[in-house]
Amino acid sequence: MNVHDKYKPLTFWERTYLPRIWDGLVITMHHFFRNLWHFILARFGVQREWKGAVTFQYPEIRRLFHPRLRTMHRLTKRDDGTPRCVACMMCETVCPAKCIYIVAGQRPEKEIEKVPVKFDIDLGMCVFCGYCVEACPEDAIRMDTGVIEMASYSRQSLILTKERLLSHVPHPEYYTMRKDLELAAKPVQLRTESEAGVEAH
Ligand code: SF4
Ligand code: SF4
Repeated sequence: MNVHDKYKPLTFWERTYLPRIWDGLVITMHHFFRNLWHFILARFGVQREWKGAVTFQYPEIRRLFHPRLRTMHRLTKRDDGTPRCVACMMCETVCPAKCIYIVAGQRPEKEIEKVPVKFDIDLGMCVFCGYCVEACPEDAIRMDTGVIEMASYSRQSLILTKERLLSHVPHPEYYTMRKDLELAAKPVQLRTESEAGVEAH
């Protein structure tokens, strides 16, 4: 379409909006009857692999996540279990929501100068932009826990402390490849509160 065609005057027929309404109805009806037909066939065992409209029985069953989805943060560890973070403050500086609070301390080893004594992320303010992950020069912070359930009864419980961030583990099994998204229906175990990362108060 020529860019100027967008601004040409609408015809009388177009100004009634009836063609566009009709188009919308056709699409909706197409999906409705297609789903209904697939559901009936699957129900009677004719085409079991055909699925109609899929309702995921969340939270027992849910879709896998897109691989690029940013979920709850975690701090990664070195082989000796200490945080990889060197308290460089890059993430705190770049965070647009100003929701990271770090206090740096001295580390006994000479080759690693600093360590975070305090490392808090206020999830109540976080906008999940992922800048902290991008900015980190040590791969010390990631957003691959697969935890999206962050509802809480208090603001205080939305603050992820260093200890909580270090206790989070990655859940690659909750993610899938882009091409598999349409097939992504998989039963998942309900996680414990500590795994979910936010305590209910
Ligand atoms: S995801 Fe964005 S808003 Fe949240 S802590 Fe990281 S940088 Fe800040
Ligand atoms: S998490 Fe990364 S960017 Fe943030 S202070 Fe630690 S080392 Fe620096």
